[in-house]
Amino acid sequence: MNAPFTLRPYQQEAVDATLRHFRQSDESAVIVLPTGAGKSLVIAELARLARRKILVLTHVKELVEQNHAKYQSYGLGGGIFSAGLKRKESRHQVTFASVQSVAANLDQFRDEYSLVIIDECHRVSGEETSQYQRIIELLKQQNDALKVLGLTATPYRLAMGWIYRYHYRGFVRGSGEEQDKPFVHCIYELPLRYMVNRGYLTRPELVNAAVAQYDFSALAQDRFGEYAERDVNQLLGKHKRVTRAIIEQVMELAAERKGVMIFAATVDHAREVTGYLPEHQTALVTGATDLKERDVLVQRFKQRELKYLVNVSVLTTGFDAPHVDFIAILRPTQSVSLYQQMVGRGLRLDEGKTDCLVIDYAGNNVNLHHPEVGEPKPKHDSEPVQVFCPGCGFANIFWGKTDGDGHVIEHYGRRCQGLLEPGEGDEPAGHNGHPQQCDYRFRFKACPRCGGENDIAARNCGQCHKAIIDPDDQLRDALRLKDALVIRCAGISLDGSGSKLKITYHGEEGEELSESFDFSKPAQRHVFNKLFGRRFASGQAPQVFSSADEVRVMQALLPAPDFVIARKQNHYWQVQVQVQVQERIFDYQGSYRRANEV
Ligand SMILES: [Zn+2]
Ligand SMILES: [Zn+2]
Repeated sequence: MNAPFTLRPYQQEAVDATLRHFRQSDESAVIVLPTGAGKSLVIAELARLARRKILVLTHVKELVEQNHAKYQSYGLGGGIFSAGLKRKESRHQVTFASVQSVAANLDQFRDEYSLVIIDECHRVSGEETSQYQRIIELLKQQNDALKVLGLTATPYRLAMGWIYRYHYRGFVRGSGEEQDKPFVHCIYELPLRYMVNRGYLTRPELVNAAVAQYDFSALAQDRFGEYAERDVNQLLGKHKRVTRAIIEQVMELAAERKGVMIFAATVDHAREVTGYLPEHQTALVTGATDLKERDVLVQRFKQRELKYLVNVSVLTTGFDAPHVDFIAILRPTQSVSLYQQMVGRGLRLDEGKTDCLVIDYAGNNVNLHHPEVGEPKPKHDSEPVQVFCPGCGFANIFWGKTDGDGHVIEHYGRRCQGLLEPGEGDEPAGHNGHPQQCDYRFRFKACPRCGGENDIAARNCGQCHKAIIDPDDQLRDALRLKDALVIRCAGISLDGSGSKLKITYHGEEGEELSESFDFSKPAQRHVFNKLFGRRFASGQAPQVFSSADEVRVMQALLPAPDFVIARKQNHYWQVQVQVQVQERIFDYQGSYRRANEV
């Protein structure tokens, strides 16, 4: 039987990828499709093809309803299990359910299911973890070959990281060595750009015309790159005139527009923004808005009785108002995914709609079409850069900076994210037959005992398993000693002639320390290469130097340590105090400030 609907080519590809994956594996999988790509059609087709019982889970009743309606519209019959929709049907072959309702009625799910599909599956790594896990655990008791498929537009969230581990294009996600991820594989992914270029989504008109912009860059960020609400409120409180000017511009530009969504930074901010907008055309929706009231407001907005919808990060998923043609972003974010989600609210196709105006008033400096790096942005001007692995050749995407010619001049990558293809005749790589991650490290902590290279945050050596000295302990100890000297190194310079290479470390306040390496002595050459050669060009092109002259020629790309620790050798017969460099700490990560950092 043919499908009673026609899938777009990429939807068919997503379906094919799912069938292919589950034919050979029971491991969980994720499909990544941008908002508006028609996930519900992919779900409908998978449900149609399934011979046995399947369960489609999601966290909000609107999505349960939408997915079910799509399925019904093809003349197929499925049940709904959702307290919010006042229906508890679990006897159909296909059940569309809300996760809360199923978790509260587990006894009604004792049948053998072959597949669980989770829509908006990035929520699995969030607050509903235990509910989803409990349901999956229970269904696995009935069928230990149960397949779990997730769909999402945002496989990465700042506070949680990537939701899967292995990507089908041959790389691994996440810098941390082994965190648990809710899904194992990403089996299909489509970029937003594809959707726009093929005319499946409205073209975003990204206009750089903000009359005024907030500057959040001075605020402290947490480790996920987000700001504290109190700090944001304080900053915005000082810039009421800016907010008023922004909203005046929004209203001016909105004259030509049908529906305007404004993303505010905090609840206070949203209230202020709402106060500047025409009362009878504006709705405010926050996390605290009563659900019934929210439904009413959203309906009135969809019916165009209201023109402006102000919200605080509650309408980023599952909200569907195709007529929206103006997105004003007044909240800070460093996540490409979140940015895409906000903009995505305005990209659905609608009659007579030719583009969607997007203005960023928060100076986010996010490129809509950049890949998600998957780490908090380290500096305000950092950009995604492509860094090739000298080990396996994989093109990594890290935060970094390029010069005018596009050469990478710095990057924050730690370990190569490429997956190694097993060579001919090799055993399948890695444990559980999983592909193995390339072990090349761009920055690392060397184990003082065995020389093994470890992640810069590692506590124990991955090779000899002994504890690695914490650079913070090293610095603290040195700072306590009277005869030790510690400098924050801002740069190095070279000197010396012939086989002798003198390196001078320059502290940020003009202090200097130096040491010499004699390249005619193999042992000293070896130490130099381990420290400097291995880290050459931010680890992008490790070198083994055989002479001091070779080093001098390539001086510009030599790495500088972040800290240098030296000890005074004060012998009574010496008039001058001798200073001996003891430690050079590269790629420092810890609580001390590095040179030229605030
Ligand atoms: Zn590699
Ligand atoms: Zn070791």
